[in-house]
Amino acid sequence: MQTTKKDIRALTKEQLRDFFVAQGDKAFRGNQVYEWLWGKATYSFDEMTNISKETRQMLEDNFVINNIRVDQMQRSNDGTIKNAVRLHDDLIVESVLIPTPTRTTACVSSQVGCSLDCKFCATARLKRMRNLNPDEIYDQVVAIDNESRLYFDKPLSNIVFMGMGEPLMNYKNVLAAIDKITSPPPGGLGMSPKRITVSTSGVPKMIKKLADSKVKFKLAVSLHSAIDEVRTSIMPFNATFPLKDLREALEYWYNKTKSRITYEYVVWRGINDKQKDVEALVKFCRFAPSKVNIIEYNPIGDDHFKQADSKAIDMYQELLERNGITVTVRRSRGKDIDAACGQLANKS
Ligand code: SAH
Repeated sequence: MQTTKKDIRALTKEQLRDFFVAQGDKAFRGNQVYEWLWGKATYSFDEMTNISKETRQMLEDNFVINNIRVDQMQRSNDGTIKNAVRLHDDLIVESVLIPTPTRTTACVSSQVGCSLDCKFCATARLKRMRNLNPDEIYDQVVAIDNESRLYFDKPLSNIVFMGMGEPLMNYKNVLAAIDKITSPPPGGLGMSPKRITVSTSGVPKMIKKLADSKVKFKLAVSLHSAIDEVRTSIMPFNATFPLKDLREALEYWYNKTKSRITYEYVVWRGINDKQKDVEALVKFCRFAPSKVNIIEYNPIGDDHFKQADSKAIDMYQELLERNGITVTVRRSRGKDIDAACGQLANKS
């Protein structure tokens, strides 16, 4: 019986209103339930106190609420929190809360595993099992917002789609989740899209689609190299989506949105730590207004990849700045609990 019931959060507000009308109730009841489900993130029909007992029972008989559960929470020495999140079908994803003095950021997953095979990323070893539904993405944000209030006395301020998975390979659900996260209360969480960053390995067609949809969130691209052979050797899908296509999509994005792109970039010893690598990056940055975020490599137990020495990082910083490109060099957080970029692999 249980398994045949539909997840009520798969319904749109319109569908929920129609459902109540078909039951001989008022469409307005659909709004009330919708607000409990999303704005208040209620996981039990019993808590919907402005709905009659009979109606709550009727909902119980017809639907389930497939909410996530935080199975395990780990805290890093630097305050970072990693959640192992259990989905209704017992699959696990991870999400991370990263506190700084000025903000608390949620790093959320968009897929169970990942369909891409970036050689330096632990998630890639899991393969893609399935896409997350909008409510499963939304629930991660709610869980981290609760933790942020509980442990840091403030609401969540930012969201980055840099957990497990490639968000643009789960386009529809990621956009549906963001729509609910940014919708004003009582139907949504009322977060500003300017505080949300979607990070992609670079799927040109989908970047154009985002631009056409006039989305208001920020875009980050995991570039790591602006030379095709190098990029293909570490991110094999670059053979299918070469830099020329990515570049064209990014120009398109900027022309439509006027929103500056962030390039995430790890510098590895012997892979992309030479002057020619920086020069290629400088050239790539000229195509659309952008900034470069140099991130530290988080080892995943593969001898091929080693963090470049600080001289190489300095060279990147100097050359980029000399060419008028904004660059930040960022240290990793949560390394001791495998919560840093690229380390999410359901180890525990
Ligand atoms: N699929 C998306 C989002 C997930 S990865 C994307 O590729 O952007 C989030 C970021 O972590 C990406 O920039 C990715 O390249 C980076 N990353 C992956 N493995 C890493 C590692 N071992 N060390 C540091 N960064 C890593």
